[in-house]
Amino acid sequence: MHRTARVALRVTPGQRRRCFGLLRSAGDVWACVLEVNGWRRRRRHVPLSGYQELCRELAASGPGTFAELDSVGARSVLRRFSDAWFAAAKRRKAGYVSARFPRRRRGLVPVRWYHGTFTLDGRRVRIPTAKGTASLWVRLAREVPYPAEQVRSVTLLCEGGRLFLDVTAEVPVVVYPPGEGPDPGRVAGVDLGIIHPYAVAGPAGEGLLVSGRAIRAEHRMHLADTKARRRAVARRAPRPGQKGSRRWRKYRRRARLVEGRHQRRVRQAQHEAGRTVVSWAVRQRVGVLHVGDPRGVLDIDAGRRHNLRLRQWQIGRLLQILTDKATLAGIAVRLVDERGTSSTCPACHRRVPKPRGRTLSCPHCRFSGHRDLVAAASIATRTPGGGPTTVATVVLPQVVTHRRAGRHLPGAGRSRRDPRRPPRAARGSVGPRRPAPPPGGESLAQQARIHNTHRKPGER
Ligand SMILES: [Zn+2]
Repeated sequence: MHRTARVALRVTPGQRRRCFGLLRSAGDVWACVLEVNGWRRRRRHVPLSGYQELCRELAASGPGTFAELDSVGARSVLRRFSDAWFAAAKRRKAGYVSARFPRRRRGLVPVRWYHGTFTLDGRRVRIPTAKGTASLWVRLAREVPYPAEQVRSVTLLCEGGRLFLDVTAEVPVVVYPPGEGPDPGRVAGVDLGIIHPYAVAGPAGEGLLVSGRAIRAEHRMHLADTKARRRAVARRAPRPGQKGSRRWRKYRRRARLVEGRHQRRVRQAQHEAGRTVVSWAVRQRVGVLHVGDPRGVLDIDAGRRHNLRLRQWQIGRLLQILTDKATLAGIAVRLVDERGTSSTCPACHRRVPKPRGRTLSCPHCRFSGHRDLVAAASIATRTPGGGPTTVATVVLPQVVTHRRAGRHLPGAGRSRRDPRRPPRAARGSVGPRRPAPPPGGESLAQQARIHNTHRKPGER
């Protein structure tokens, strides 16, 4: 199994310039491919899309065309283009007419190098550059979390104005002592949600609730922050075609930094939540996770507020994280239909009007239980690929473990104060306070006299 860790780079200004040069050259490669295909389209030729033919075109352009970028790095851009092209073609073939072929130029494009072309030495990495150029060694902000012999590729990229290296390694699936590994006969259901990113119902009445309130708070505070910031600087925004002022560019740089930090915080919390679920499942010896696939709701337009909520939820990523971590731990993940699981009574199988709070109470049989756990328990009984009906007996969790995702987030503390604002004491006095007006300054003449006496000799 392949796993990827994102490691920040520590670079000198010179190294930074060279790294950005590589990313920019990769952007040039991308733009060239778009350009060539534009010409071909105008001449009614078939566009170049296969990796091999793109590589031939690159070889024909000769060495030195893309500054310091070596041919391995340039070919990784061609691979990226080819993959994007075929993914779009596949989606179009499947009936998604809105899927489009790559058409946009990008200033910076990530570059990938395969095993054997780079050197990893503890915290130092040699990034390959074109023949005849000085070698480029950079420092990593932390140790790579995989043994050096497992590392398969490194990808140089820029996010939020900072340089990162994605280190991909081939990691073996965990091996357990006999009788202690996950048991394929033990199935748990997972309900994905916003307030609880993961609600899990185990096979024998155990449950797990991972709270995502901290993540939601982080999203909210970030939105409020960026909105206020945007309002404050809207005046300085350059007109189309105008170059932004130095102050504006400074603001843009700061905004990118803040956005990057927000993204990292949320991603970290999501990974922690996924880790919590998988560790719990390993302890419970769960062999199969049935995950309710709610992605159908993403295609429905639900108004701007709810659309934003859904987008911030990032279900695709939650699913991906859970699947990756579970597979590595030897646990299978199956997607099942989740329709009706949060609005059907598990005791009498009748529909319950949409519950308002976190508890589901059945008006037909007086059943009452936690909404997300009830949904998870119903999901556990469904068969992958089966229909949206629950007929089997639902085992409701009796022993529930509570965990919070993103405890390190600034909004996760007990206080509801926004931690990004300075404390009240520091907030009170901004700049030097204006002195109290001296007595008797009512008329203009008096004002002038006061003004003159306050002026130091020699001052105009
Ligand atoms: Zn009922």
